[in-house]
Amino acid sequence: MSKIDPFGSFSATIDGRLVETSGSLPVINPATGDVFAQAPDCEAAHLDEAVAAAQRAFVSWKDVPTDERNAMLRAIAVRIREEIEPLAMLLTREQGKPLDQARLEIETAARWFASYAEQDLPVKEHVEPDGRIGEIRRVPIGVVGAIVPWNFPVQLAAWKLAPALKAGNTVVAKPSPFTPLTTLKLGELLLDLLPPGVLNIIAGRDHLGPLMSEHSDIGKISFTGSTATGKAVMRGAATNLKRITLELGGNDPAIVLADANVDDVAERLFWGAFRNCGQICIAAKRIYVHDDIYDAFAAKMVELARANPPGPGDRPDARIGPVQNHMQFERVKDMIVQARADGLHFLTEPGDMTGPGYFIAPTLIDNPPDDSQVVSEEPFGPLLPLLRFDDVEDAIRRANDSIYGLTASVWCADIEQAAAIGRRLEAGTVWLNTIHGMTPTLPFAGHKQSGIGVENSEEGLLEYTNVQVLVRHG
Ligand code: NAD
Repeated sequence: MSKIDPFGSFSATIDGRLVETSGSLPVINPATGDVFAQAPDCEAAHLDEAVAAAQRAFVSWKDVPTDERNAMLRAIAVRIREEIEPLAMLLTREQGKPLDQARLEIETAARWFASYAEQDLPVKEHVEPDGRIGEIRRVPIGVVGAIVPWNFPVQLAAWKLAPALKAGNTVVAKPSPFTPLTTLKLGELLLDLLPPGVLNIIAGRDHLGPLMSEHSDIGKISFTGSTATGKAVMRGAATNLKRITLELGGNDPAIVLADANVDDVAERLFWGAFRNCGQICIAAKRIYVHDDIYDAFAAKMVELARANPPGPGDRPDARIGPVQNHMQFERVKDMIVQARADGLHFLTEPGDMTGPGYFIAPTLIDNPPDDSQVVSEEPFGPLLPLLRFDDVEDAIRRANDSIYGLTASVWCADIEQAAAIGRRLEAGTVWLNTIHGMTPTLPFAGHKQSGIGVENSEEGLLEYTNVQVLVRHG
């Protein structure tokens, strides 16, 4: 019997209690454009209450023995897995993604909690030349503020919650106002598994983000979202010199060499670009294809685009859902209008974009100029440029010509050649003849304006700690 009603009422969780607010935030189903639920609309006072509860809880949570914390993380993973179905239904309703991808997202969240139960903080010893011994240990920071976007609301929250809690911090998490519901249900679901105040989930309008960034009793902000907002978070965090981890935008290149298997690579890159309706920070967003295979590659991409029209995520055959929200829908439509105004050649058409659902079909642009908007900016939607090259040096230069440096991929029959190219790409992760498949044990870190700091793996765990060195004579 499920512990939650995915379509019941929604509350914040503060200090181990469900909290209702006087105002509410309408939440829209992007497949229909209709409001289908109301989320709490937390104000500054709710944030203060949540931070105060997290501070109180920190006093004992930081000293809970690791084994006990690990057991709680494992219990969280089990509980989430028991509730995959209702949580996935709710996620599809608010986010738009197909149900099987929503299930995968919830399972991924569970996997992160399970994994961090097995990843421990290192304690190192270092002996100085004068014989003194330094014990180098890691201590939790205090209250962590987790700010999450709308494309993978549950998975990206788990990427923060699991390591933050494991390291002994307490958390105040804030989902995006576009997708607050599944995260709120998660908070409700975990109420009896953690001591009061250890995990608090609030939801409200965008004004909460700056209040969190500037809050004097929050010790760290872990933020995932756009580069512009990340810069605002960094400014706000300066007020009390918060630690920050910023996972920001990307404009991720893929380089496909002449010897690549066209059908196989086109299929992998099609989904690498259009999964989650193209709303993935690490989606392939500029595909550079060698001149020798460009036409065959483009033809295969066109075939896949035509075979995969968008549809409501709860329809069994849907593989691409709607754009998540009206603002993003308008943004992608504007980019399409600009591409037409620039006279670019469309290999596939976006289809009927009059609504009421926010549907745009996978739209492929044929070899646009490098300085066109669709190449230089992150569309964050189902709009993808294919770009020709005949000199690999030229492809590397163009791939690196971006303010972003999140991920990249290289596709080549010769893996050593792919690796040699990959090492020259300015990106935190470079996939060689593969794409995506994030794991909790590999570090993920954007270069340039794609972010600061690391998520996932031991390196991501360390970001939720301060270094402490105990020095004594040997
Ligand atoms: P966004 O920056 O608009 O919002 C992200 C979160 O920040 C939301 O919870 C929002 O309420 C909050 N927020 C808004 N204004 C704020 C402020 N001034 N201070 C603090 N918080 C504030 O991003 P989005 O539109 O929700 O997400 C799309 C962007 O996120 C894309 O650019 C995408 O590439 C990026 N993204 C990056 C990663 C990554 O891991 N690098 C993952 C997913 C998405």
